[in-house]
Amino acid sequence: MKKENPLEKKLLYKRKLVWDEYDEKLRKNALKFAEGYKEFLTGGKTEREAITESTKIAEEAGFLSLEKLKKGSKRKKFYALNRDKNLALAVLGKRPISEGVKIIISHVDSPRLDLKPHPLYEDENLAFFKTHYYGGIKKYQWVTIPLALHGVVILKNGKKIEVNIGEKKEEPVFTISDLLPHLAADQMKKTLEKGIEGEALNILVGGIPYKEKEVKERIKLTILQHLNEKYGITEEDLVSSEIAAVPVGEARDLGFDKSLVLAYGQDDKVCAYSSLKAICELQEPQITSICIFVDKEEIGSEGTTSAQSTFFLSFLSKILRRSLPSAGESQLREVLSSSQVISADVNAGIDPAYKDVNELRNSPRIGCGVVLTKFTGKGGKFNSSEASPEFVAYLRNLFARRKVIWQTGELGKIDKGGGGTVAKYVARYNCEVIDCGTPLLSMHAPLEIAHKADIYSTYQAYSAFYNG
Ligand code: MN
Ligand code: MN
Repeated sequence: MKKENPLEKKLLYKRKLVWDEYDEKLRKNALKFAEGYKEFLTGGKTEREAITESTKIAEEAGFLSLEKLKKGSKRKKFYALNRDKNLALAVLGKRPISEGVKIIISHVDSPRLDLKPHPLYEDENLAFFKTHYYGGIKKYQWVTIPLALHGVVILKNGKKIEVNIGEKKEEPVFTISDLLPHLAADQMKKTLEKGIEGEALNILVGGIPYKEKEVKERIKLTILQHLNEKYGITEEDLVSSEIAAVPVGEARDLGFDKSLVLAYGQDDKVCAYSSLKAICELQEPQITSICIFVDKEEIGSEGTTSAQSTFFLSFLSKILRRSLPSAGESQLREVLSSSQVISADVNAGIDPAYKDVNELRNSPRIGCGVVLTKFTGKGGKFNSSEASPEFVAYLRNLFARRKVIWQTGELGKIDKGGGGTVAKYVARYNCEVIDCGTPLLSMHAPLEIAHKADIYSTYQAYSAFYNG
């Protein structure tokens, strides 16, 4: 073996493979951690489901709903929900909250196909649901795969009907058809963007005609009859529904060595789950620690359940007033300006088949650990919140002390595209913010890929952050 030059060893930065750095025990931990993670992914495909799953895990770990907390209670772990799509968890620290808090914020929504308000129609003796895609997808990836329908229908009287069909073996699945190659000469000449149009993403849902031939739309009526018998709903009830078509199936191990996870919705449930586990295991931290799950990140963080919602501020002010009952707006701002935040979101690992979109010195590698992304954005760092070198140095030091294997990341070559996270919305409150999360392959595809070593290293990073 070539001997390392001492000066090289002293001066050069070297990216490390997590697996090389782990001992037997850590390797086992990483594999075991992925088991719980896969279960979480399978049970939480939509943001509502992910929030329900997370709340269950938090309650088992001793978190109590803020609403149920009695005045003067000494409890240190609690949570709050917002519209079934946001969850905020807190563990009170030993130090006064006025010194600032530590926050990890991630998103639990993922790209998918939403049903339109009037989804059902029939054409050529088949019934379909019209969809409107949610988030940045490559449309051609969503045809000819089995889809399940997940969501809720709210009746006129306010009653909520849960819909979850296509995941169990005995249940039917749904799909979007595509043109056969024999007749696709014109389609094949189109760009990948135009090959499948948004209005062609129609889900096949049935094909049996209603028995009376006088009925105008017989297939559609049979489907409505079925929906009415099964869920007690009418066509108009679908107007007040929120139903998404998502890829069918469980999160699976990938590769002969089972080193990777193949599953829907890993952006960003990998960071959500890792931060959830980290906060659930937290015992008496110095600094008050908070974990937040937001929605609507994939469509720009707009709306009541997004990172721009006031939910997060209300939660923080409720916690603040537990220790400082007279605290108002200005005290809240003080707390925020001395706080540290990890915007926990995934980054794009280098895909060997598409290396040329990356600048190889600065793009993250699969298997090299959690990624610290100092800035995101497009072109000249537009629309990005850039982390301060002071905060990066703090984390570098922390990760070294806590033996977290990490790497830096940028999202592709400067002029190739780009993207953003919730970091910039949180940065408005004048807290220190950095993006830090797991590298993925096939991001936003129906099935995404993550390495188990990177997943565990993400959990270790968040745990180190909370523990200081
Ligand atoms: Mn994301
Ligand atoms: Mn995304």
